[in-house]
Amino acid sequence: MKAMQSECCSPDEVIFGPDFHQSLYCHLLCGLIFHEEIQLVSSSFAYSIVLAFRTFEQVWEELCDDIREGVLTSRITFPPVRSAMAKLLKPNPELADMIEKKCSGLNNWYGLIPELFPNVKYIYGIMTGCMEPYLKKLRHYAADVPLISADYGSSEGWIGANINPSLPPESATYAVLPNIGYFEFIPLKENVEEHMQENGNVSFLSMEPKPVDLTEVRVGEEYEVIITNFGGLYRYKLGDVVKVMGFHNSTTELKFVCRRNVMLAINIDKSTEQDLPFAVEEAAKLISKKKLEVIDFSSNVDVSTDPGHYVIFWEISGEVSDEVLTECCNCLDRSFVDGGYVSSRKVDAIGPLELRVVRRGTFQKVLDHYLGLGAALSQFKTPRCVRPTNNKVLQILCDNVAKNYFSTAF
Ligand code: AMP
Repeated sequence: MKAMQSECCSPDEVIFGPDFHQSLYCHLLCGLIFHEEIQLVSSSFAYSIVLAFRTFEQVWEELCDDIREGVLTSRITFPPVRSAMAKLLKPNPELADMIEKKCSGLNNWYGLIPELFPNVKYIYGIMTGCMEPYLKKLRHYAADVPLISADYGSSEGWIGANINPSLPPESATYAVLPNIGYFEFIPLKENVEEHMQENGNVSFLSMEPKPVDLTEVRVGEEYEVIITNFGGLYRYKLGDVVKVMGFHNSTTELKFVCRRNVMLAINIDKSTEQDLPFAVEEAAKLISKKKLEVIDFSSNVDVSTDPGHYVIFWEISGEVSDEVLTECCNCLDRSFVDGGYVSSRKVDAIGPLELRVVRRGTFQKVLDHYLGLGAALSQFKTPRCVRPTNNKVLQILCDNVAKNYFSTAF
């Protein structure tokens, strides 16, 4: 970071500290100590910037006490972090008073970032895709400070650069870096479906269209990205859906659309089509002891709460006690094993999972709804994740909730 002239104000002991909460507290403290030098506020994903300033709202008075006395709160227990912070922290009552005055003068923390860091130029991080729900809160903290969406990359390789950083994150596009890997694109417009005769039953064999190369994509169409990288990963499907917005010189300019086949995602979590049934199966074992079963289930993400959380809808074959259902709810929460979900739950960036038990016959109503739209009974599959745009199905499920439970598993 030194070489890039983009140094972090916290010492290495804080950056690499073993406890997320303790490190975050110290990052905030370092930010205040060096408040005039801060030019950029950044994190990989926008949600963690929001989380940092939400935490600031809770701990600002304690931070001011530390600055006034020049002594770190006893909450920070890791000795290397304490001794690194002791080198930076000197009693500074003027600074503490100034921060207190600024914080007390804010209206619901609007404009907190420029108030604390008067020389900040911009806020930087991935702000597109599933980070977009955090933009509202981030803008509230940022006031007039520009939000710059970071590039489009992945563990498997860098993909595209945000070449128009001054555009708002909602309009960010990424120019594919044509020589950083070999990119192919699976067209998503139409999946070829072929009838197949199987023991007298007609079923469908779905075939994906042939991938096209970087320069063969068509503007306005959506594709899934395939990457072949110099590390030897060969034709790896990233699972991302992108839309071609145009060309930058001869390379394709993409907009990130969403994850493909991800059912539940709030921030960095990616719970797949396999994760949900696995979690339901695990939790259903608790009611199977009572000779009961989950008749059907579905899910959605509720981002109307802050932070957002997973909602699982269950229809059960009989009466189950509140105690057992609370256990089921905790078990569901613990059974989502995606690393992004678990780490987000641990730091409260995703709220407690909610189990909503619906009345008997609810999923029949969902089926009736689809049949009414002309769906064939033989092909019907219960939607396992109900998108917020699927108002009707969401309404059927929500109108029939008999009881709900929140997890206490984390
Ligand atoms: P990871 O595999 O954990 O490195 O995460 C990579 C994934 O994060 C990508 O496949 C995308 O789904 C997502 N991602 C990375 N950069 C962006 C971006 N700029 N906008 C939206 N999503 C992104």
